[in-house]
Order: sequence, then structure tokens, then C-alpha cells
Amino acid sequence: RMRAYEEKVEISLRRCHVKASARTEFIERGLRNAMKSGEGLQLHYQPQVDMRTGSIIGAEALLRWRNGSEFVSPVEFIPVAEESGLIEDIGAWVLREACTEAKRWERMGLGGHGKGIKVSVNLSVKQFSDRLVGDIHGVLCDVGLSTKLLGVEITESFLAENNSQHLLQTLHDTGLHISIDDFGTGYSCLSRVSALPLDTIKIDRAFIIELGRSPGAGAVVQTLISMAHKLGMNTIAEGVETQQQAEVLQRLGCTLAQGYLYAKPLPASEFISFAKGAPAGPAKQANSLCA
Ligand code: C2E
Ligand code: MG
Ligand code: MG
Ligand code: MG
Repeated sequence: RMRAYEEKVEISLRRCHVKASARTEFIERGLRNAMKSGEGLQLHYQPQVDMRTGSIIGAEALLRWRNGSEFVSPVEFIPVAEESGLIEDIGAWVLREACTEAKRWERMGLGGHGKGIKVSVNLSVKQFSDRLVGDIHGVLCDVGLSTKLLGVEITESFLAENNSQHLLQTLHDTGLHISIDDFGTGYSCLSRVSALPLDTIKIDRAFIIELGRSPGAGAVVQTLISMAHKLGMNTIAEGVETQQQAEVLQRLGCTLAQGYLYAKPLPASEFISFAKGAPAGPAKQANSLCA
């Protein structure tokens, strides 16, 4: 009887696998078509705010994809794009689109005091290459955007790549803002992080959720913040949803945040309306994520 049971499990596992790979193929085909036709892919922009004033200091570009009538989450399609190699073209499209939008904001004088709003683009580890720096600067040059108005978000997996130190240093030297995304969820070695030219540590939502829930969470977040500050880096909290989380964060010394409490990722036109209504922020202080 055990044997029959095992066979049954085996068959359903195989069926599940077939289903999963059919879904993967379906997504890959859809993405390929979307890139060819230029239809269905769109960037949304989530405001990054100074919690003390509500002023916008940046915006994270987040990719959205409508495949026919279905909205597919980037959590599902980005890994498919990475595995199929499509991420190269998609990543290049995202970069150009985001820079073009940031240039529009600059022309409109958004962000207050003519300093502009920095746009932050997520980079996949699969985009890591010798050409990356040249590609980024080619786009900035085409669009006419200053490097100061572009940031990149990398994950801890980036740090494991050979040569990542050199590449990040080159990017950093040209004035680009570098953030480490989802910090604390990967396996990066702290000594490695301290040696890299990172500007901002993004504290993952997993830690923010625990604030006010479990007693140790505040200690962990406080340690991350003080470590960042000692290394000359800044922190931004990801996924802030409640006023209570915002208050705890500010008490712990984190002043920058991103989350539904302030705004969801917004289509380009809605982001502009939101930014027009936001406080301009202090005139003398640098309107930048850098401490
Ligand atoms: P991420 O870079 O960590 O982006 C933050 C995610 O948290 C976004 O999910 C955002 O919509 C979500 N979020 C923001 N505030 C809140 C909040 O208050 N509560 C909750 N529950 N969620 C919040 P999204 O847009 O689904 O993107 C998921 C991931 O997909 C991103 O995580 C990023 O890793 C990847 N991704 C998105 N766009 C791109 C892209 O253009 N290129 C690459 N390589 N990856 C991308
Ligand atoms: Mg990100
Ligand atoms: Mg993140
Ligand atoms: Mg995250």
C-alpha cells in the first residue's frame, strides 16, 4: 500500500511540475511579446519620503505588467525574466523609462527648490556586467539627466559576484546613489558590506512588520540604523504601513521611509499629482538621500 501511495505522490508532483513549467513558458512568451510590441509594461513610482516633513526625496521605479487581462506580479515575472535572459532588455527598458520620467520631473521643477526628485531603479544581479556602467551613462547622456538624480537598488546577491567591489566603486565615483535592498534578508557578510561604497541601506519590510509586535524587533532595527550611520550610510525603511511604525522608526533615528502609509506605487501621472501636493521640504538642507 505504501508503494501505491508513493506512486500517487510522485504522479501529483510530476503534474505540479508540468503545470509550473507551463506557467513559466506562458510568462516567458508573454514577456517576449510585451518587449516586442511595447505593450503591457509600465513603471509605477513609489514616493520615498522624509517622515518628519512629508517631503518627497525620491521615488522607486517598480515594474508592472499586464498580460492580456491579467496583472502578473513582478515577484513572479522577474525571476522568469532572469532565467530566460530577458532581464537584460527589460532592465535596459526600465532604466531608460525611469530616467526619462525623472528628467520630466526635473523640467517641471518637482521636488521643491529646483533640486529635482531622484529616481531609484532596481537592478537584477543578472544585469551585473562589464558593460553596466557604460550602459547607465549612455542612458543618462541620451536623456540629459544628471547622475545625482539616479539611484540603483541592488540586493545582497550582488555582493557575492566577482568584481562587485570594483563595479560599485566605479558607479559610486560617477555620483550615482547606491542602495542595498531588502537588507538583512540575505546572507551578506557584514565585513563585506562595510568595505563597499553604499549610500543607503533599505531596511526590509520583514523587520518593520515586527516593530511594535515583538519586543526584540526594535533592538534589531536600532542596531541596523546605528551600524549604517557609523559606516557613513543612510537608512530608509521599506513597507511602512502604520503611524506607530513611523513613530518607532523616528525614535530609533530613521527618518526616511517608503510604504503604503505615505503612498502606494503610483502610475506616472498620479505620482506627479502626488508630488505637486507634497510639502517642498527645507530650502537649505540638501534634498538628497545622502546623510
Ligand atoms: P523591492 O525592490 O523590495 O520593492 C518593494 C516592494 O514592496 C514592491 O513590491 C512594493 O510595491 C512593495 N511595497 C511598498 N510599500 C509597501 C507596503 O507598505 N506594504 C506592502 N505590503 N508592500 C509594500 P512589487 O512592486 O510587487 O515588487 C516586488 C519586487 O520585484 C521588488 O522588491 C523588486 O525586487 C522586484 N522588481 C520590481 N520592479 C523591478 C524592476 O524594474 N527590475 C527588477 N530587477 N526587479 C524589480
Ligand atoms: Mg527595490
Ligand atoms: Mg526592497
Ligand atoms: Mg523588500
